[in-house]
Amino acid sequence: MKSVYIHIPFCSSICTYCDFSKIYYDEKIVGKYLNSLEREINNTYKHELIKTIYIGGGTPSSLNTLELERLFEILEIFDKREVEEYTIECNIDDITEEKLMLFKNKGINRISYGVQSFNKRILKTLGRKHTKEMVENVIDMTKKAGITNINIDLIYGVDGVTLEELKQDVDDFLKLDVPHISLYSLIIEPHTKLYIDSFPTIDEDLNFLMYNYINNKLKECGYKHYEISNYAKENSESKHNLVYWNNKEYYGFGVGASSYIDNVRYDNTRSITLYLKGNYILNKNILTKRETMENEMILGLRLTSGVDKDNFYKKFNIDVEDVFNIKDLLSKGLLTFKDNCYLIEEDKLFISNSILIEFLE
Ligand code: SF4
Repeated sequence: MKSVYIHIPFCSSICTYCDFSKIYYDEKIVGKYLNSLEREINNTYKHELIKTIYIGGGTPSSLNTLELERLFEILEIFDKREVEEYTIECNIDDITEEKLMLFKNKGINRISYGVQSFNKRILKTLGRKHTKEMVENVIDMTKKAGITNINIDLIYGVDGVTLEELKQDVDDFLKLDVPHISLYSLIIEPHTKLYIDSFPTIDEDLNFLMYNYINNKLKECGYKHYEISNYAKENSESKHNLVYWNNKEYYGFGVGASSYIDNVRYDNTRSITLYLKGNYILNKNILTKRETMENEMILGLRLTSGVDKDNFYKKFNIDVEDVFNIKDLLSKGLLTFKDNCYLIEEDKLFISNSILIEFLE
């Protein structure tokens, strides 16, 4: 069984921090894009059973109802008899009851909302158009439409934000009573508006204080920290994202999407012009055994449950300790061995990048 990622690159406005593959919504391009997406899927999909589908972006919800219907018609090709999770990413300001009913009727059982903050000033800095009241209203509508498996994306670590303001954001999130949250510290990437405007990065110590506060508060409220940036109530972990972190195979369709099939990684073009012409693939990379093992560790150690020593052996026919310098990381306290798994303890997850890099040759 495989998983499928579908990339819809359109957004009705562009956020100041965004470096994803996206363009402004344009009715004239959407139709052509969906036709090209349909061709790409038809050319590649081998009719396997599909376990999870994730429609991401961009902002899939920026499409109007007719365009969304066309998208779901294209996705009919997938064998969904055993689909466990079917997610769509949405922006709060796009949501109508009509769209929610359409999602529900088409089998969507999880929605991920890009909220980022509830604070007017922070939302303005990030270039987001919604308000706290709109978020509350949309979450209420979503639950009433029968979709209760909801994720909220939040951003912390925005320069100029006080710890008190962050606490308020976390409280506002908790009041929504949704089972999953993805939390990201703001990174100012080149080519974004914040970068061009020389927006300052937050003080590292304050950022760490914020991270610790969020971590403790969410745990106190019943959320399990199961991946570096993700927290979930029991049984509400993202099944689709677990496919990536467990280094399993998936299809990726759409501009800028990536696939991992039969040990080959494919990266699609990020150029919409090339994509519309049917020049889908930019890179094809057959992974060596060493690269696959590195991915197993780098992705698996993002999970707080870590990498199972026996599973590693079963997959690669070699002990993990014979491939990587695990002893050194254990002696420095950067890695822990618990219940037959190698893992990064929660108090080190904040510096996980510097640990994960040790697994690259
Ligand atoms: S909605 Fe998402 S993809 Fe679109 S500009 Fe904002 S962050 Fe980027």
